[in-house]
Amino acid sequence: MKVELLAHTHSAELISALPVSEVPVKDFLAHLSFTFAIEGISRACSHQLVRHRVASFSQQSQRYIQVKRLQGHVVTPPTVVEKAKEGFDSFIGEASDAYAKLVAEGVPREDARFVLPNATETSLLMTMDGGSLTHFFGLRLCERAQWEVRAMAEEMLKQVRGVEPELFNNAGPYCVQLGRCPEGRFSCGKMDEMRERYGSS
Ligand SMILES: Cc1cc2nc3c(=O)[nH]c(=O)nc-3n(C[C@H](O)[C@H](O)[C@H](O)COP(=O)(O)OP(=O)(O)OC[C@H]3O[C@@H](n4cnc5c(N)ncnc54)[C@H](O)[C@@H]3O)c2cc1C
Repeated sequence: MKVELLAHTHSAELISALPVSEVPVKDFLAHLSFTFAIEGISRACSHQLVRHRVASFSQQSQRYIQVKRLQGHVVTPPTVVEKAKEGFDSFIGEASDAYAKLVAEGVPREDARFVLPNATETSLLMTMDGGSLTHFFGLRLCERAQWEVRAMAEEMLKQVRGVEPELFNNAGPYCVQLGRCPEGRFSCGKMDEMRERYGSS
């Protein structure tokens, strides 16, 4: 996975343009825009990402771009690497062959892709405002979120903290943002650990 903050607005420029200085700095989050290039995530991960309606996305098409051989272009979950890599790799090989065969038989790529697995890598651009990004971190850095989307959110948080440390200092999973876990009986019970990992420096 590769995550890169490609472009963003700067809070300092907005603050200096505003004649009233007492507006809390966090209220600027709605005016701030962050664009990420995300490569090498699975379709399983991108499917979760695009559920965030307040963001804008441009994703690599499987209709117009022919998928290369799948081997080397899939995301393999760590649990699979640990427990079932051989079977997984063998299935990826079969799916890859089936896809190539369909395309060779003249099936349009938009239909041939029906045999591609969720593990297939994809790339996309995502733009989100700062407030929505904080909400995204609240949900997707939670231990209940899936490992890949969590890893991606973690990298995004690291990068926005690099450019806007003050605004994102308190961003993190909702237990860190709120000081209490909103997950009720599904709570992971690791609030101290999460605070340690994501809490303001
Ligand atoms: C751990 C986890 C498990 C999940 N499991 C499932 C699952 O099993 N099945 C499933 O279908 N989804 C699942 N989801 C996805 C989840 O239901 C949301 O679709 C996703 O997290 C986007 O959240 P959101 O709607 O708050 O964010 P966004 O779409 O980014 O919206 C941000 C906020 O803007 C507001 N908003 C945006 N659009 C509207 C609108 N049209 N009307 C009113 N308010 C709006 C809401 O306040 C919303 O919270 C899961 C998410 C997580 C984090």
